[in-house]
Amino acid sequence: MIFADVIIDISVKSLDRAFQYIVPADMEDNVEIGSLVAIPFGAGNRILKGYVIGLSVEPKFDLSKTKSIIGVEKQGVVAESHLLSLAYWIKENYGSTMNDAIKCVMPVKREIKEKLSRTIYPLVDKKEMLSVTEELKKKHNTARVRLTQAFLSLPEEEYFAGIDYSVAVKELKITASVLEGLKELGIIDISSKREYRGIIKAENIKSKRHILNDEQRNAAEGILNDYRNGIRKTYLLHGVTGSGKTEVYMDIIEGVIGEGGQVIVLIPEIALTFQTVNRFYKRFGERISVIHSRLSAGERYDQYIKAKDGGTDIMIGPRSALFTPFKNLGLIVIDEEHETSYQSEMPPKYHAREVAVKRAKMLGASVVLGSATPSLEAYHRAVKDEYKMYQIKMRAGNAVFPNVDIVDLRNELEKKNYSIFSERLSELMYEKLSRHEQIILFINRRGYAGFVSCRKCGSVIGCKHCSVSLKPHMVNGKVDRLKCHYCGYEIPMPPKCPECGSVYIGTFGLGTQQVEEMVKKKFPQAKVLRMDADTTGGKQGHERILKEFGQHKADILIGTQMIVKGHDFPDVTLVGIIAADLSLNSGDYRAAERTFQLIAQAAGRAGRGDKVGNVVIQTYQPEHYSIVCAASHDYVNFYKQEILARQMLQYPPISNILGVLVLSQNEKSAAQLSVKVYEIMKIYEDISILGPTDAAVAKTNDVYRKMVYGKCVDYNVLLSAKNSIEEFKEHDIVYKDCIINFEINYI
Ligand code: ADP
Ligand code: ZN
Ligand code: ZN
Repeated sequence: MIFADVIIDISVKSLDRAFQYIVPADMEDNVEIGSLVAIPFGAGNRILKGYVIGLSVEPKFDLSKTKSIIGVEKQGVVAESHLLSLAYWIKENYGSTMNDAIKCVMPVKREIKEKLSRTIYPLVDKKEMLSVTEELKKKHNTARVRLTQAFLSLPEEEYFAGIDYSVAVKELKITASVLEGLKELGIIDISSKREYRGIIKAENIKSKRHILNDEQRNAAEGILNDYRNGIRKTYLLHGVTGSGKTEVYMDIIEGVIGEGGQVIVLIPEIALTFQTVNRFYKRFGERISVIHSRLSAGERYDQYIKAKDGGTDIMIGPRSALFTPFKNLGLIVIDEEHETSYQSEMPPKYHAREVAVKRAKMLGASVVLGSATPSLEAYHRAVKDEYKMYQIKMRAGNAVFPNVDIVDLRNELEKKNYSIFSERLSELMYEKLSRHEQIILFINRRGYAGFVSCRKCGSVIGCKHCSVSLKPHMVNGKVDRLKCHYCGYEIPMPPKCPECGSVYIGTFGLGTQQVEEMVKKKFPQAKVLRMDADTTGGKQGHERILKEFGQHKADILIGTQMIVKGHDFPDVTLVGIIAADLSLNSGDYRAAERTFQLIAQAAGRAGRGDKVGNVVIQTYQPEHYSIVCAASHDYVNFYKQEILARQMLQYPPISNILGVLVLSQNEKSAAQLSVKVYEIMKIYEDISILGPTDAAVAKTNDVYRKMVYGKCVDYNVLLSAKNSIEEFKEHDIVYKDCIINFEINYI
């Protein structure tokens, strides 16, 4: 006999009240996850409608008291029904509870907050908040810690929406002076109004559109013709930086809307600026809705309902906008599809690109992925003809590619130039400043201080088995041991460089603040703006700085990867990449891909207008293919070399990798359970296993983290292993104090 868990009301609040019903034998074929069913409810057996969110063969209650489903509606009629099936697919593919998966596809119905209540917003992202918390704990600032931990406990989607002021004061017992202190540190902001929507309306003037060039038109028309002929596909629009991809999206979107379809446009949160949104707004006006992380749960819910009721045709937003419940979804556009923000950091750790393709398949919609530096996944699928590719090789308008210099930092050291500016970079900086042109200095902070390298020969100490860098483990502020976070291989910190014997080895780190000081010293006449997650924080600070720089109120902008996105600065003629290879040593198998992307995107910021631009890439590894190819805008060559590397070490997209993270406050149980996980994986002969070992962050908030990886070409074998581990955990009584999280492929 089969049983179905049915929820009566779709609002997520009532999820914990799923009721079990018997599926009559003649309905077994028609009832699936997401089905809308008719059921007798309550003492009076009122007939109600409900959704099936789970199926099982085990009765939860007394069989004689369990009622039966009395009817099944046809599938696919209601938006909710397919979103529930999608939630089920997410649960199965990424390993999470059905509850978490449903919360991810449907926003919670909430009472809308009083408009003028004050809200405390975080100005730093969750990672930063975590390290701030650690700092505050060390200083025993318990009141401040109460607030930062309250932020950390918010679900990811609500994090930036902040915490109600009165809640903080009453329930967390936070005083005004504590808030003031955190505000001064730049960690929070307190505000009583949200600004986004208002601004957009003010500039609602239709602008004249560009006439597409041949390459742009070829892509737009090709995709639209398919659409009009009823062909639905996933497309990869591979267009160099500044090639006018957005114009192409807009033409396609217009065509799809003309056919009665609705459109979701995903843009990475960091690029979801006023400037970007306004471009769409100018073209499509009131038919657009925008979701962003500054919306409260109530506002978010409003948008959701508006979309469901057909009050909007285009939804623009970050990852979560993917689940907009349009009745007639025709197209999903994912701009900058390579961006890491498309991957959820919380369970279910889904990837928006994959879920978009799945959702589009379910509904008969198309997907357009766009990037100048496609993810290896997307390009690999395009090469295999799973996705159809269109390329734009020319920059739009009159813009030309910048001239690129690669500077070998080892030579600078030899020339006794100990500053962070190579001779070439300072020469160009003087030149541009004298011509009143603008400069961006880009510090690649991914993997910051996360590896040990030699200042003399530039070599990085890596793992013998995994071709990633070893991560330093600190004891009393000094590097004690070096460890691989894939396989657990470790060595003591060597006193000398294993390659050249130099004693100048250590963690290499450079902050934006240090760079700012050095710039001010060397170029006192220049006006400098600095932008990074640590200081400017939040979206508003970030937009303000970009705006000021765009208006040429400063000569030099210093920043991290935040500055490479979403803005056109026509006066920028020099981009200096201070230490390009920092991200090459971040200790994960995507390091080369990330480095290529960051450098190519940063370089793409130069020479957007009609002036010729320069790019200077400073690096210890000038011969590394990710750097050479980024400098020559050669994606294809990069792809060819990188895919070989993945092939050799059996990483995605050639193979698949499952990461199992075991969490517990009790280190011993975490360690034991991770061994258990290892043993379960071992049953599957085709899986090659790495670990168990400490996770990259071995302990957070007193929770220990152990990791086991399994690699396998056959995705379904990994899913079976995942299911076995889930099943083991479900019935286990020994490791009740442990939690298991899964990650698949995007690790
Ligand atoms: P991408 O998203 O590929 O980096 P954008 O769509 O932002 O590129 O376009 C870059 C710049 O080129 C924008 O300022 C845009 O207005 C301009 N542009 C785009 N298409 C054309 C065109 N066909 N003719 C002239 N300018 C264009
Ligand atoms: Zn050396
Ligand atoms: Zn290793």
